[in-house]
Amino acid sequence: MGHLLEVKNLEVNFKTYGGEVKAVRDVSFHVEHGEVIAIVGESGSGKSVTVQSIMGLIPDPPGKIKGGQILFEGQDLLKLSKKEMNKIKGFKISMVFQDPMTSLNPTMKIGKQIEEGLRLHQDIPKHEAKKKAIEMIKLVGIPNAKERYEQYPHEFSGGMRQRVMIAIALACNPKLLIADEPTTALDVTIQAQVLQLMKDLKEKMDTSIILITHDLGVVAETAEKVAVMYAGVIVEAGTVEDIFADPKHPYTWGLLESIPNVEENEKQRLVPIEGAPPDLFSPPKGCPFAPRCKYAMNICMKEMPPAFDIENGHMARCWLNDTRAPKIDNLVAAGRSNHD
Ligand code: SF4
Repeated sequence: MGHLLEVKNLEVNFKTYGGEVKAVRDVSFHVEHGEVIAIVGESGSGKSVTVQSIMGLIPDPPGKIKGGQILFEGQDLLKLSKKEMNKIKGFKISMVFQDPMTSLNPTMKIGKQIEEGLRLHQDIPKHEAKKKAIEMIKLVGIPNAKERYEQYPHEFSGGMRQRVMIAIALACNPKLLIADEPTTALDVTIQAQVLQLMKDLKEKMDTSIILITHDLGVVAETAEKVAVMYAGVIVEAGTVEDIFADPKHPYTWGLLESIPNVEENEKQRLVPIEGAPPDLFSPPKGCPFAPRCKYAMNICMKEMPPAFDIENGHMARCWLNDTRAPKIDNLVAAGRSNHD
């Protein structure tokens, strides 16, 4: 069986008054059936633009997909008409956003909103859609499903609203769920519950998930594979074990350092990476992370590092992985030692 989704050499630009911004540069990754992949990066790293491209949500103008392919079950989504894409959206691929309040209709009962999606894509009678909607409410762990079906979004807490969004997204049993910062607006405990729910549902429904997040902390428990994005580029990709136990890019080291540790007290938490992401109007010629990187060498300023193949699909775009580069002992420790 081929990949469920394969993004190949995706390039997306945005026209702005200041000039053309290269929001996504040569991005490639793939998602297998039943797999969770996390795309991690700061805001402006291109992670959301990447998934918006998959969903056909790039506004053109000012956005423009300049190149690449997005193959879903072997079919290039970039070549589909709007009508053909609408058949796939919400049915085979659906999305959960960060803020359910902006996606839910405040004047419509929750149950009806779940039904709406179902009936749009499936020719099922009303009473069956209602039955299915109540089942979905139960499935996402909302108690008293029948009563909750009749309620409006404002009667739900933030965490419960996000569960409703997941119910809507999964009602048609999509092959791929894209979750864009689904738990960012929630407090830590609720966040963990929603992530666990997504994981359980993935097992039950065999749905693949692309999880977009700025927080590497939510990745460890949820995903199998990780792609780290910086300035529109995937700078490191691999399994969760590769990224957490043997990261090969200084930006990933920085992200790992900034994961809050629950056992530490507040003061010791969050060590942000110094400096700001590059200006995407004129990204630096070489490595985009060079202005913030304490290991930067001459070559880093001049040439974009290629994708170094570490092993078994673990990839890092960093010159330190070149055989001619100086060896930095125990890279993980080097990245983390400053704050131990
Ligand atoms: Fe740092 Fe150079 Fe690696 Fe970029 S390529 S992350 S500047 S060492």
